[in-house]
Amino acid sequence: VLRARGLELAFGTTRALRGVDIDIAAGEVLAVTGPSGSGKSTLLHVLAGVLTPDAGSVQYGDRNVVSLGEADRARLRLAEFGFIFQFGQLLPDLSALDNVTLPLLLAGVSRRRALERAHAQLDALGLSEHERKLPTQLSGGQAQRVAVARALVTSPRILFADEPTGSLDSLAAEQTMGTLLEAARTAHSTLVVVTHDARIAAYADREVIIRDGRVSLSRAPGPTARSGHDEHTSPDPSGGC
Ligand code: ATP
Ligand code: MG
Repeated sequence: VLRARGLELAFGTTRALRGVDIDIAAGEVLAVTGPSGSGKSTLLHVLAGVLTPDAGSVQYGDRNVVSLGEADRARLRLAEFGFIFQFGQLLPDLSALDNVTLPLLLAGVSRRRALERAHAQLDALGLSEHERKLPTQLSGGQAQRVAVARALVTSPRILFADEPTGSLDSLAAEQTMGTLLEAARTAHSTLVVVTHDARIAAYADREVIIRDGRVSLSRAPGPTARSGHDEHTSPDPSGGC
């Protein structure tokens, strides 16, 4: 679904991306790994149209995300992409429920319908009893799951997640990652996840290692890689509820 070619981006003298080519298939779960500072977050932001590269293209269907105007790009992000950021996830003054409702309101969904969908999404992630809380009243793992709910509520075609489990202990990390993978599979979404955690990378269909702003290796992960992933079948008739 996504094909990036020749991506380059410098911040001053720091060349964060130095010519990245990457192809992401529909329904694929792709892990992006690599050392700190190697350019993983920058790559994710460019792929999702959050940052504009100095050179290169990101083809999504018949559109080049890079050359879209700001307004079209924002619309595309809202309609088709979900993003879980590495830092600063939730709006601190809004309840969990309002945080999850917001992207739907921005997308033009009616308030009543948006609330319904946000409730259902929070419920699916086991967060019903916390939906009135502010982010500071949630545990780290709960806040992270609310961020997952917010990214999933618009049913994105592609979900980008930047270290979604970075600040969590291993149990919470595993739960959050499980939630994310299950949701992506149920919705037949494509998932691109940046992670330091080798166990999480092992759940992916493919792992891309970034070093010094370049793709140094693209491979199927280790023997624990999941199998039987049906990428191109029709949606689950049970509807995943
Ligand atoms: P981490 O694993 O620590 O999150 P990363 O692989 O995500 O690292 P990036 O955040 O993509 O790394 O950063 C790549 C390089 O670009 C780093 O050297 C970083 O210092 C630099 N960089 C990133 N964002 C900016 C910015 N806004 N201004 C200046 N330099 C930046
Ligand atoms: Mg990063």
